[in-house]
Amino acid sequence: MRAFRLLAVSALVLPLAAPAQVPAKAPAAGPARAVRRDIPLTNMIRRAFAAGTRDSTGRPGKNYWQTQVDYTINARLDVPAMRITGRESVVIHNNSDSAMRSVQMRLDQNLFAANVPKAESVPEITDGMKVTRITFNGETVDLNPPAPQRRGPGGAGGALPQVRLAAIGLNTTSARITLPKPIAPHSTATLEAEWNFKAPTSDNGRGIRMGAWGDSLVQVAEWYPRVAVYDDLRGWDTDPYLGPSEFYNNFGRFDVTIDAPAGWLVGATGILQNPNDVLTPTARERLSHALESDSVRPIVTAAERGPGKSTVDGTRLSWHFIADFVGDFAWSSSDRFVWDATRATIPEKGVVPVYLLYEPSHAAQYAQAGPLARHALEFYSKLWMPYVFPKLTLSDGPDTGMEFPMFIGSSAGAADHETGHQWWPMMVGVNETWYGFMDEGFNQYMNTLSAADRNKQPANLDGMGQSYGRTSGDETEAPLMWDANYGGPMYRFQAYQKAPLMLSMLGGIVGDTAVWRAQSEYAKAWLFKHPSPWDYALFMSNALKRDLGWFWYYWLFTTESVDGSVAAVKSANGKTTVTVRQDGQMPSPVVLRVKFAPKGAKIVAMKNSVMTDSATAVVTYPVDVWFSGSRTFDAVLSFGPRAIEKITLDPSCRFPDRDPVDNTWPKQTVQAAPAAAGGPPGFGRPRCE
Ligand SMILES: [Zn+2]
Repeated sequence: MRAFRLLAVSALVLPLAAPAQVPAKAPAAGPARAVRRDIPLTNMIRRAFAAGTRDSTGRPGKNYWQTQVDYTINARLDVPAMRITGRESVVIHNNSDSAMRSVQMRLDQNLFAANVPKAESVPEITDGMKVTRITFNGETVDLNPPAPQRRGPGGAGGALPQVRLAAIGLNTTSARITLPKPIAPHSTATLEAEWNFKAPTSDNGRGIRMGAWGDSLVQVAEWYPRVAVYDDLRGWDTDPYLGPSEFYNNFGRFDVTIDAPAGWLVGATGILQNPNDVLTPTARERLSHALESDSVRPIVTAAERGPGKSTVDGTRLSWHFIADFVGDFAWSSSDRFVWDATRATIPEKGVVPVYLLYEPSHAAQYAQAGPLARHALEFYSKLWMPYVFPKLTLSDGPDTGMEFPMFIGSSAGAADHETGHQWWPMMVGVNETWYGFMDEGFNQYMNTLSAADRNKQPANLDGMGQSYGRTSGDETEAPLMWDANYGGPMYRFQAYQKAPLMLSMLGGIVGDTAVWRAQSEYAKAWLFKHPSPWDYALFMSNALKRDLGWFWYYWLFTTESVDGSVAAVKSANGKTTVTVRQDGQMPSPVVLRVKFAPKGAKIVAMKNSVMTDSATAVVTYPVDVWFSGSRTFDAVLSFGPRAIEKITLDPSCRFPDRDPVDNTWPKQTVQAAPAAAGGPPGFGRPRCE
């Protein structure tokens, strides 16, 4: 009531100032539903189109560029303190046409410090990352600059303060180095840093991405000062790291040397460069056979402990790894690690090793993990594009469900999912923080396909798209385009669960195999690049040769559903008119399954129908039937005089629907399957006949 009164007042006061917003009368007979058919553009993507870095093909534009960052890191692990001390030299390649006037740094390790914003609790509060020295092109960066001076009254006329070579925010997850001498376009700069931190301990418990178990095992991630992404969309990525969604990284080369106590095995992203310096002759001999068969072979056993047995003899050993083109680097080390190896056969590439590093007491889980990772590497290579990296390591530790390039924290439980992340974001460098669905969501979708393949069954995506209808309308759900950092109470649904429902509906329109082919082409087009949701949506529309603007609009930018029903069925003169109604804002094609009486006159096929057996036809009308704005559509069935026994709208259950019970004629009396316990209200895969 209050809103209505305010409107009425403003209509009296401001009739000329805002005529469009204040109609004199309620609209008479406008369309019942205005279907939006284009993909909304924000200023960011408009700028990219204007600059030619991206375009409507959905492929990288002719002026596409991205920042490359190459790291040389020397790190030392001290035990039992579990302290990591590092020194890095970082080459920043400014491949853009504009000068970089600052450098944004990601200091993810500060998530573990007190007074740093976090979206989830951490197992131990530490001092965070202590950055003790930074130089930029050889000049020392002031790590404790004086607070910026406030402009006094009338300060507009004063001289601008000089830019200092200084770092701001080193105790947060996103720091900035201000540069008096910017990095010119198409040039490089070198940044050096020194730092240290204590790995957070999570005894017998879960860590966040990393951490230590006692003083005997450490998983190391989010561990070096990282240069944030600088891209054509937003310039520097200044999004803070809050815990749940972390990935958006530049690609580049990592040359990393880890100095660890002798007897501690080290596994990492990249290829070990100096096996002779760190591995025993026995381990090297066993490794030389790792690619000979699919069997899981021991490299270092539980009986081989300590210097001279698990590693070569000595007090400390330097492990040197190189990863040629990756977005991140992670590692782990333990004096208790058992090391097994197996292989995966990658199409167009050949065999790559799969390494398993685990505590002896977790042998049972890791016995399954190797074959699961192999299946995932081989299956996703065939589904999307061949795995490009030269190896994969699975490591035990506090986080048993985390992904890094060539390196995952996982036993059997998450082996398929974390291996899936090698495609996104490790090969296709999507921005997980802003667009979690392009990372976790696509991964969840393909995990369903992988599980079916492992069970030697065809993938069944029926029911998934329809189930969204019961979630739609919850005010706690953020649209897929919303930054996952602010995804709210339904973050997990937004980032993980919704995209599989979207792709189930897409399969309902174009066919699942067409979706897979298009998604595979998308992956290849954006290998080692940074696609945005606009690139993805436009690429898919082009690859599928469909005008899918409406589809992407409703799924990516809204939380609307289709909510279809069969409103009426009337037969006359050998024709049956099915009145289909859509009460939601999202349209969909109209798909009707028509079940005829087993006997009677010959069934005359319609040109938009397919017979699925001798007495069943599926008839389809394109989504265009809704574009005029009506909420009802009369489908006129003319199959001849054979009696119709049953009509089902959306028989594959692909289109978001609040209540599938009203999708059939004659009217159903049974209740729909109850929603699964837990999860968001109404969420759960319904029964689909
Ligand atoms: Zn994931």
